[in-house]
Amino acid sequence: MKTDTICVQGGWQPKKGEPRVLPIYQSTTFKYDTSEQMGKLFDLEEDGYFYTRLQNPTNDAVAAKIAQLEGGVAAMLTSSGQSANFYAAFNICEAGGHIVSASTIYGGTFNLFGVTMKKLGIDVTFIDPDASEEEIAKSFRQNTKLLFAETISNPSVQVLDIEKFARIAHQHGVPLIVDNTFATPIHCRPFEFGADIVVHSTTKYMDGHATNVGGCIVDSGNFDWMAQKEKFPGLTQPDPSYHGIIYAERFGKAAYITKATVQIMRDLGSIQSPQNAFLLNLGLETLHLRVKRHCENAQKVAEYLEADSRVAWVDYPGLESSKHYNLAKKYMPNGTCGVISFGLKGGREDSIKFMDHLKLAAIVTHVADARTSVLHPASHTHRQLTEEQLIEAGVRPDLIRFSVGIEDVEDIIADIKQALESIN
Ligand SMILES: *Cc1c(COP(=O)(O)O)cnc(C)c1O
Repeated sequence: MKTDTICVQGGWQPKKGEPRVLPIYQSTTFKYDTSEQMGKLFDLEEDGYFYTRLQNPTNDAVAAKIAQLEGGVAAMLTSSGQSANFYAAFNICEAGGHIVSASTIYGGTFNLFGVTMKKLGIDVTFIDPDASEEEIAKSFRQNTKLLFAETISNPSVQVLDIEKFARIAHQHGVPLIVDNTFATPIHCRPFEFGADIVVHSTTKYMDGHATNVGGCIVDSGNFDWMAQKEKFPGLTQPDPSYHGIIYAERFGKAAYITKATVQIMRDLGSIQSPQNAFLLNLGLETLHLRVKRHCENAQKVAEYLEADSRVAWVDYPGLESSKHYNLAKKYMPNGTCGVISFGLKGGREDSIKFMDHLKLAAIVTHVADARTSVLHPASHTHRQLTEEQLIEAGVRPDLIRFSVGIEDVEDIIADIKQALESIN
């Protein structure tokens, strides 16, 4: 099936007499006839549902759709993008481990890696993703377990050189984990360029209607854990909580997601509710249509902003002036995302004034929504970062994150025009 068809029909495959539409399995538990049947599930000897904290049919159908969209072998839904990123890393990186991550990442992930995971004994080194391979390689240590980056960074909309990152990760025997939230699999499928694991905040374009917070982890099945036996004992050594199962031996290409489900989700429990999975699926059914429109609108808005004399700078990977224009052409030839970052000549103060004058575009802590929305990261999502960290994360103090919606673009541009005129 082609991508557009997967969006509409992937995942839920009803059999004779079953609902055409994905049902919400609003049940914590599942019934069995004998005690032995249930015992086999607990021993992972048989596949089946027994408790929704581990698996639920609604969630599994949606995860399967996202896995198909990304071209992966297995996926797991989580209650948020934050838990997806945490689980994706923690599944293979424990106390004593080390992460190398691009510095240009979402503020929440920056804090997760830089502050919270440090408390668990996991260290991180942030690197400039545009640095040379030799430079980035210097940050790797004996105990490094993964390399992390975003395909298009939030909010600085920098495009990642995925092949370069995959090369560096694999030279050091670790997987490349890529957050593909902004590009979505409609515009970029990181596995095709060597990424091993993809994570999503499904809260953004995938839901697309600002109705539910969620996340997803997808495994390509390509990383050979057994070839790095010493580095990843969690996958290659017996798990005492499952009578000594060795995930990489027993589950092959599904080892990583199986471990994330039966061990990390079992013990930490950030499951997505089946209700939210149902809503997410509705969003996915039109993802291909919406993402296309977001990008068409954003291209026009970016060109409008670039031509306005009051605008100091515009960063949008679809503009030829963008330093990542060529990377965007290579990795996402059909379009990038609907998010633009820009600043005004009047600096931080004017950026804030401009936002206050917008009428159609709303100031919300959200991005990648059907409705045009706007945010000032230095005052909002990245408020906890120091000035130095802001620069490192690619967030200039005057940066406006403008998330172009799917309204008529003439109305969006008219709103920008009147707000620019109202500043002085
Ligand atoms: C929003 C976002 C997250 C966090 O996701 P939540 O669903 O808000 O927990 C992670 N990564 C990126 C790129 C995001 O945009």
